[in-house]
Amino acid sequence: MNASHSDVRILQGQTLSFRADPFVVGPDAAIDYNSDGAVAIRAGKILEVGPRRAVTGRFPGAEVEAYPGDLIMAGFVDCHVHYPQIDIIASYGEQLLEWLEKYTFPAEAKFADPAHAADAANRYLDECARNGITTASVYCTVHPGSVDALFTAAQARGFAMAAGKVMMDRNAPADLSDTAQAGYDESKALIERWHGKDRLNYVVSPRFAVTSTQAQLEAAGALWKEHPDTLMQTHVSENVYAIEHAKSLHPYAKSYLDIYDKKGLLGPGANFGHAIHLLPEEIARLCESKSGISHCPTSNLFIGSGLFDMRGLRDCDQPVAVGLATDVGGGSSFSMFETMKTSYEISQLLHYNLHPAKAFYLATVGSAAVMRLDHRLGNLRAGYDADLIVMDLASTPLIAQRMRAADSIFDALFVQMILADDRAIRATYVAGRKAYARG
Ligand SMILES: [Zn+2]
Repeated sequence: MNASHSDVRILQGQTLSFRADPFVVGPDAAIDYNSDGAVAIRAGKILEVGPRRAVTGRFPGAEVEAYPGDLIMAGFVDCHVHYPQIDIIASYGEQLLEWLEKYTFPAEAKFADPAHAADAANRYLDECARNGITTASVYCTVHPGSVDALFTAAQARGFAMAAGKVMMDRNAPADLSDTAQAGYDESKALIERWHGKDRLNYVVSPRFAVTSTQAQLEAAGALWKEHPDTLMQTHVSENVYAIEHAKSLHPYAKSYLDIYDKKGLLGPGANFGHAIHLLPEEIARLCESKSGISHCPTSNLFIGSGLFDMRGLRDCDQPVAVGLATDVGGGSSFSMFETMKTSYEISQLLHYNLHPAKAFYLATVGSAAVMRLDHRLGNLRAGYDADLIVMDLASTPLIAQRMRAADSIFDALFVQMILADDRAIRATYVAGRKAYARG
């Protein structure tokens, strides 16, 4: 008897996957592209990706959703974002240290209220779904309840989210400060409550060296060592004044990165935000320790931090793992198209051309690799989690017109990363279920 595949769903459209790193093998060898393709999914997993006839023929009786002309690819992965800052996006004026004082801290203080946190978490996940972001590495606030709120909302929707309570024990308002011991204890309790539950991962999250004492960074390092399958995130070399401030507070360190190194905070699964003004020895140490970087282009321009050196960090002999990130609310957009566009423009200023295959790779596989999740999500591959997006390649009249002249998948991708916004996301699937459909 012929097996029916009524539990299988097939999405038909153009398909794009990565088979290798385009920074290493070049764009052509890096991608698998089907102009008439299909993706079969079942029980939250991708069963198969390939030419439409082959995939459809393999699963008779499957439910088919046709997206003719659209591009199906992995959902975007945002490897650095502050969900409590959703309401201060687009705030005028300041650079990093003043930005924190004037906008960030007052916004984060409101997360002492669990109802406020739950509301913000749900609005944040709505923005993710609308923008095709299916996984993120999220900073919460100092309040453990802010982590509970995000994980509760993410769990209900099936998102694979990583998040952690911010640890801060100096240079922050009293109502946003913990202590080395409280930061450790609260983070440990959150690990026990959430890490590894469904699709959730905990991230040990000392905010940065300016707001943590030596004792707190030591406690963070100890906690991560005790729970080595959790992740670690912090900020490094974002702003030139912050570098001097951090070094003055941690005089035992040779450099900004060395502050974290001395506390055991480097290694696979360590995710350093920004990394703009690095010394050569810091870059070498990031590479050697297999630590990762989240590149936050809209934030770096919006709060005037500096220009990320993509060639020197990624397109070189000793590359560092790099992912692409919105860094909302210092970042000015939830759109990964806008984020890729800004990364391209920053690279242009440094006389480096960021190829669209590389930009899309960083926004999916690259970010997943920084979060040590690239073995199971961030790519359209059999066996991977079915987190994917359907992209309308002609979402505005201008894009539709420009696409008539697009003569390759790379040109089509480039047009999208320069011109598209959330209107290009026709649908977002999270663990095989439709989490968003454009109205
Ligand atoms: Zn940040």
